[in-house]
Amino acid sequence: MSDERAAAAGSAWPPPSMDFSRPTIARAYDALLGGKDNYAADRALAEYAAQHIPGLKDSAWENRRVLVRGVRHLAAEAGIDQFLDLGSGLPTVQNTHEVAQGVNPDARVVYVDIDPLVTVHGQAILAENANTGVFTADVREPEKVLDHPEARRLLDLDRPMALMLVGMLHYLSPDVVDEVVGTYRERLAPGSYLFMTSLVDTGLPAQQELARITRESLEEGWARTPEEIARHFGDFELVEPGVVYTALWRPDGPVDPGRLTPGEQLGMAGIARKTQ
Ligand code: SAM
Repeated sequence: MSDERAAAAGSAWPPPSMDFSRPTIARAYDALLGGKDNYAADRALAEYAAQHIPGLKDSAWENRRVLVRGVRHLAAEAGIDQFLDLGSGLPTVQNTHEVAQGVNPDARVVYVDIDPLVTVHGQAILAENANTGVFTADVREPEKVLDHPEARRLLDLDRPMALMLVGMLHYLSPDVVDEVVGTYRERLAPGSYLFMTSLVDTGLPAQQELARITRESLEEGWARTPEEIARHFGDFELVEPGVVYTALWRPDGPVDPGRLTPGEQLGMAGIARKTQ
């Protein structure tokens, strides 16, 4: 255990809610990204999945890259200055607050994740950042998330904000996804944005195979068609280019849609605005 973690967690390490013998989504994703905040069970799952799914590690990085482009767009072009990043994951390079506050130093960012390790690491690196907070909660409980004291402290729900379900939508099972995403959409003020990326199903076997591996090892994992992903934006207005493979969402350089790699065909992204 690092000194940083011990200090943030208090004397009992690991806290009873953490079990390092089983993989978690956040830690396995960190392992895919080549991060250090993971354990043997997480690395074993990441390696197993990467062997079975061509381009999986690339797709994790593709997802990080679109997160950066999306947040930059929201902060710089849409003028959004408050962000609620749901299923934020373990801190990595170019986190939401770094991108948003790089554009607008006063931007406020709240991170939420079900994995308590995210809060432990987040609190350690955010201690000096008064405009950023992190707490542990289940995204499937929107009211608890939105009414959490840390969300209330930093975010004004009566003003436009960006709500992010990046790399997260596919962990919401079919029986809850409509109600959960619908509740978030309803609670947002007009002028707000919803930013989502998801494992997609365009008929390629690797997509459903990844969903199956994820479900079997991490309980949730659902590949959705582009139409299903678009449906979760409700009546929000999709900004250009709509719901597309993440590599095609406002890329920084030219990308040939006819020559996407296997990893570039695992996820799709979209951002939409609540107009009324
Ligand atoms: N948003 C980051 C990104 O796109 O790089 C991290 C994505 S990671 C694939 C998914 C994250 O969602 C994990 O950190 C996981 O713990 C979190 N997560 C999954 N289900 C959740 C839930 N019901 N409530 C809160 N967080 C959840």
